[in-house]
Amino acid sequence: MSRFWSKTVRELKPYVPGEQPKVPNLIKLNTNENPYGPSPRVLEALRTEAADTLRLYPDPNADRLKEAVAAYYGVHPNQVFAANGSDEALAHAFQGLLKHADPLLFPDITYSFYPVYCGLYGITYETVPLTDDFDIDLEDYLRPNGGVVFANPNAPTGRLMPLSVIEAFLIRNTTSVVVVDEAYIDFGGETAVPLVARYPNLLVIQTLSKSRSLAGLRVGFAVGSPELIEALERIKNSFNSYPLDRFAIAGAVAAMEDQDHFDRTRQTVIRTREALTAALRGMGFTVLPSAANFVFARHPKWDAAVLAGRLREKGILVRHFQGHRIDQFIRISIGTDEETVQLSQALIHILEDR
Ligand code: PMP
Repeated sequence: MSRFWSKTVRELKPYVPGEQPKVPNLIKLNTNENPYGPSPRVLEALRTEAADTLRLYPDPNADRLKEAVAAYYGVHPNQVFAANGSDEALAHAFQGLLKHADPLLFPDITYSFYPVYCGLYGITYETVPLTDDFDIDLEDYLRPNGGVVFANPNAPTGRLMPLSVIEAFLIRNTTSVVVVDEAYIDFGGETAVPLVARYPNLLVIQTLSKSRSLAGLRVGFAVGSPELIEALERIKNSFNSYPLDRFAIAGAVAAMEDQDHFDRTRQTVIRTREALTAALRGMGFTVLPSAANFVFARHPKWDAAVLAGRLREKGILVRHFQGHRIDQFIRISIGTDEETVQLSQALIHILEDR
């Protein structure tokens, strides 16, 4: 704490990211990275970029990437915003699109960055409890609000809302912006992007960190009506103008264009998730049905923090969160089949130990 700090900085509670270990050989199932590498076409594009054009500044508008995303989803490039990770798209959406007369609404169990953005930008918010089954009930959000933000599938629960439910909500909530954070949508959900043509207040945000396996490249994007996208562009092009670099643009374009690699790897992750869910249930865990590349599980006889600690002693990282209800669970990212077998064996040993 310093007397030179502003009120905003004093009140900020920093986000605690998942551990990025410095020691080798840990099985890392704590930050929902993709266990498989990106498309070989990405590596090829990066090599070409390095050889030919690294001395030149990147395109500040990342037009190639906007065009690739627009082509993928059948929208106009002026409906696409390109960002340094979906975190940046979220940050600009929080800052630029939420009204201040009424509170922003989001679930009480969701991506823990949302309250951080509210703190940064002085946004008033209210959290809405999940149902007993850890689902979002959008009926609870039908009241005056300065915006609604939710992740679908939700994190860290992995629970998915069908598109029909989201559309029914959009029909009734027409005056504030609805942000759907689809970081994990490719692992079994149906994207809300087609709805942006009908609902000018809908902003869909996606990332290339998960299903496209490019967490290290930091690329995300938003799709919405031209008026919403223009708001994000205005923020990015004013004080916070960090263009995407040449590698990010070239790699992301290549990743968007390799449908085969994308389909193969995400189907493998989905299969492994289902196998892990069955294995955990066999050990007595309650596992929430997940549409993401992680599962959220609790064991009736174990304190989740202790369990995560025991796994860490065996070289396996999973995520445990503090907070009401959520602290009973561990979140396990889906790894390779081999990592998943090692995780299962470690859990069997730990549970027997008791
Ligand atoms: N939204 C959700 C729900 C997430 O879990 C994450 C990843 N931690 C992000 C957004 C941000 O992803 P990125 O900045 O890597 O695109």
